Amino acid sequence: MNIANLNVVVVGGATGGAATALLLARAGARVTLIEKIAEPRAVGAGIAIAENGMAVLESLGLKPAVSAAACVVAGVRVVDGTGRTLLAPPPPEPTGWMLRRSALQTIFLDALAAEPLVECHFGAEVTGATGAGTVTAATRAGATEFHADLIVGADGVHSRVRSCGRFDAHVSRPGITYVRTLVPESLAQGVEAWTAAGLFGSFAVPDGTYVYASGGSRACTDAIAHSDLEGFRAAWSAAYPASAELLGAVARWDDLIVNRVRRVECGRWSDGRIVLLGDAAHAMPPNLGQGANSAVVDAAVLLDELRRAAGVADALRAYEARRRPAVRRVARAAARLGTLAELTNPIARAMRDRILMPIVARLARGSDIDFVLQEPVATLRAIGRA
Ligand SMILES: Cc1cc2nc3c(=O)[nH]c(=O)nc-3n(C[C@H](O)[C@H](O)[C@H](O)COP(=O)(O)OP(=O)(O)OC[C@H]3O[C@@H](n4cnc5c(N)ncnc54)[C@H](O)[C@@H]3O)c2cc1C
Repeated sequence: MNIANLNVVVVGGATGGAATALLLARAGARVTLIEKIAEPRAVGAGIAIAENGMAVLESLGLKPAVSAAACVVAGVRVVDGTGRTLLAPPPPEPTGWMLRRSALQTIFLDALAAEPLVECHFGAEVTGATGAGTVTAATRAGATEFHADLIVGADGVHSRVRSCGRFDAHVSRPGITYVRTLVPESLAQGVEAWTAAGLFGSFAVPDGTYVYASGGSRACTDAIAHSDLEGFRAAWSAAYPASAELLGAVARWDDLIVNRVRRVECGRWSDGRIVLLGDAAHAMPPNLGQGANSAVVDAAVLLDELRRAAGVADALRAYEARRRPAVRRVARAAARLGTLAELTNPIARAMRDRILMPIVARLARGSDIDFVLQEPVATLRAIGRA
């Protein structure tokens, strides 16, 4: 299909939406991007870009900028609360790029601003969308209607677009909470610890450290409910003394971002001219670091299938058939990993650490985790370049 004839509205200007807008515009489509945040530069803490996400970014010419804004992470080990290794990734070790979310968003926004076929509306909130191709939004100019051949709902886990169509969506809360922050000091331990209070990780980003921790133990839950930084620090240093220095570097409670994990599973990813992408279609637990990476892969596959198909409807069917099983497998693996990492019962933890993990460590092969990347990286690199 000739992409140059397409008029596309992308709802959501974060990772998934920005990648979609750039890929489709570079292929010749006219893209209107609608993002409710007026100044989306200063969002979030840290993010790990994996090889699949980086392949798509490379195809967009963004790899040099992302690499320059990131610290490379390879061979991340899982340790217990004492620092003993529970699991090291089998070779070849996967490579990731850890950076500030605001840095990634800035790179996307600069690329969007330079793209003549993308018209951005920031500070505009989509209020409705129809399968016939109409989007309504509250913009600075008042209620505005847009018409499109294709509407991409990249508006995240609470997707408004999803609520406007028939997607058979099921949103669940596995009951896991994560707390994330950036501290200015270089204190990264470069490991993920599975402890009596859940998991704790710290990784270097340029000029600082990205810190994330579970908020699931009783003491942490209480501290979160009362925005009590001292209580949160105390709960964590009791379970994992190595956390003390990192959480000690947090200045105020408001510097912490609290996320209650949600999982989205949709029976269908498209309805008429609307298609879902990223968290709107498949929010998953963060334990494999694949939520945003999968959103970027969605964008590349959507473009690939639009190119191959005779029309939009065929393309959306092919996109869903290619993406849904691949993403479901990763989401299930991430959920299982999350459940293991969050074990707090001492007997269950002992069985995990003394029996399960040694078996996994002995049997695991690098190829066992190839499915996490979902598409061959060479394919992803080629789609955006074509
Ligand atoms: C603790 C934690 C750590 C994570 N770490 C990683 C990681 O290291 N690597 C990774 O790949 N993933 C990670 N993820 C997952 C990742 O954050 C998400 O999967 C990713 O942000 C999804 O991108 P998206 O573009 O689909 O949605 P979002 O990032 O949620 O973006 C949606 C956008 O749509 C906009 N929007 C929403 N509603 C409207 C509306 N009505 N009108 C207009 N705009 C709207 C929002 O403002 C937002 O900008 C993590 C998640 C958590 C919770």
